[in-house]
Amino acid sequence: MSLTRRQFNAKLGQAAAVAAAFGIPSVALGNKKAKIVVVGGGAGGATAAKYIAKDAADTLEVILIEPATTYITCFHSNLVLGGVKTLDEISHTYDRLASAYGLKHIQKRAKSIDRTARRVTLDDGTAVDYDALVLSPGVDLKYDSVPGWGKEHEEVMPHAWKAGPQTLLLKSKLDAVPDGGVILMLAPPNPYRCPPGPYERVSMMAHTLKRAGKTKCKIVILDPKEKFSKQALFMEGWDKHYPGMVEWLSKDIYDGIENVDPATNTVATGFETYKNAALVNVIPAQMAGSIARDAGLANETGFCPINPDTMQSALDPNIYIVGDACISGDMPKSAFAANSQAKVAAASVRAQFVGSKSFPARYQNICWSMIDSDDSIKVGGRYVAKDGKISSIEDFVSKTGEDASVRKMTQTENMGWYEGITADIFL
Ligand code: FAD
Repeated sequence: MSLTRRQFNAKLGQAAAVAAAFGIPSVALGNKKAKIVVVGGGAGGATAAKYIAKDAADTLEVILIEPATTYITCFHSNLVLGGVKTLDEISHTYDRLASAYGLKHIQKRAKSIDRTARRVTLDDGTAVDYDALVLSPGVDLKYDSVPGWGKEHEEVMPHAWKAGPQTLLLKSKLDAVPDGGVILMLAPPNPYRCPPGPYERVSMMAHTLKRAGKTKCKIVILDPKEKFSKQALFMEGWDKHYPGMVEWLSKDIYDGIENVDPATNTVATGFETYKNAALVNVIPAQMAGSIARDAGLANETGFCPINPDTMQSALDPNIYIVGDACISGDMPKSAFAANSQAKVAAASVRAQFVGSKSFPARYQNICWSMIDSDDSIKVGGRYVAKDGKISSIEDFVSKTGEDASVRKMTQTENMGWYEGITADIFL
């Protein structure tokens, strides 16, 4: 009897499942290499691909599907706005992942997933079968979440919530703001990638304005949230470094966004209409990347539930979902978190397909934010799988009134963390 490739793969999958059930690595059965496909080469996906492939080239075929040749990190993209880093300094290629770890980078976009056949179809119509799939597509922006604003307006009122051309666009608009100009930031509702990100951005915008001597400018944050990450620390920092330049308004004060008019840079709220703003930065609501949602892996929140012990989808154990796209319990959506979750997923994949020893899941996160030169703050924690979610077991945050030397040290940590995590992901 001859088998089609699909039947053959299905039999391999069954053998792998039986092997896993008895603690036998599927490779020990003499099967061909198990095929692990990773979609998305960002903080989560590139980490997963590297850590699955590492030392397993003989037993696993690892394929990374990511359309870009270069990944530009959102993390530290606010520092580009602050003139502290260049876009080049936050750009990373996939060259070393392929050469050093033997994984294959397919430079295409995944269009759909057939979960029954365990097959990913790419945008050129070709298909890639998998034994296990790791998804880390990040977030999609909800372009319909701000009345009057949509994708067609992102050149006029940039979001810059995906790093790259949008970052440079926002920077050039920021540099063009005249002294005394009003900048409006429409902050996003929860949950969104990088909880302290909008407020670090405000700090870095103010940093640029101050360095240019434009201290009569005002940045007004229209925030649908009642409080925000590291709020007391940011507010203290704004008062100290940028007095009178930043105003934060929560929704109960400005009474909601009624309309945004990109043609006149006007934002009408229930309380006040801001006409002819010098710059409007719209950060809309967010949801899991479409490849995960279209595969039926998200719930009503727009994000994907996972098993916190392994990072497997709660809806499909053949699929792992890491990073911003997943519902990460007490963990924020951050690059640090995505990297940490990806390592748990990689360990689980290797345990299943290579027979490596598995350990209880442990997660970690720290988010640093730069307020001004030599003044960074941080928040972080450690997490385990508990009560059906990723649960915090320890947390810490910088303190208000900290000595300048502590803040300077935190800034050094911040810069060192970036070098460390990007090396961990891409080198
Ligand atoms: P991403 O890094 O966005 O990667 C997703 C990848 O998937 C992309 O490369 C995309 O091209 C690819 N992709 C999507 N769909 C498909 C598809 N269908 N087929 C193939 N590929 C696909 N985090 C921190 O830890 N520290 C910080 O200081 C920090 N600062 C931030 C500042 C800003 C302004 C922003 C916006 C974010 C910041 N973050 C920070 C958050 C961090 O960038 C994200 O949490 C992190 O990138 C999430 O990783 P991810 O792998 O889930 O998604």
